[in-house]
Amino acid sequence: MSDCIFCKIANHEIPTTMVYEDDLVAAFADMNPQAPVHVLVVPKQHYANIVDGVPANTLAAMASAVDEVAKAKGIRESGFRVIANTGDDAGQTVHHLHWHVLGGAKMGEGLL
Ligand code: AMP
Ligand code: ZN
Repeated sequence: MSDCIFCKIANHEIPTTMVYEDDLVAAFADMNPQAPVHVLVVPKQHYANIVDGVPANTLAAMASAVDEVAKAKGIRESGFRVIANTGDDAGQTVHHLHWHVLGGAKMGEGLL
């Protein structure tokens, strides 16, 4: 997807603060953080969201990247949230699959 901002970030066409990366996945800082730690984990290939036929090995790589991010950011023991906004009702604004990793503070008990 030539026009997709997360494709460009994941493939180094746009500079970012990369937290973790491997062959399948990139993890970088959210530009509008909603918590002391707010990192986005994305596949390097373009999928619109989590129900867009994402291969199992890509989902596994994303889960493993969450672990790496949590370790790198020092929130693995204290806890964190992983959120995948999917579609309009969830308020998904960037239509390239991404998991928000949020932590670094005690969070409220609401939906977000
Ligand atoms: P969502 O509502 O789940 O689609 O969230 C999209 C997220 O992407 C928001 O938290 C934005 O702050 C973030 N975002 C959008 N553009 C960029 C960018 N260029 N670099 C980093 N984060 C971005
Ligand atoms: Zn994309």
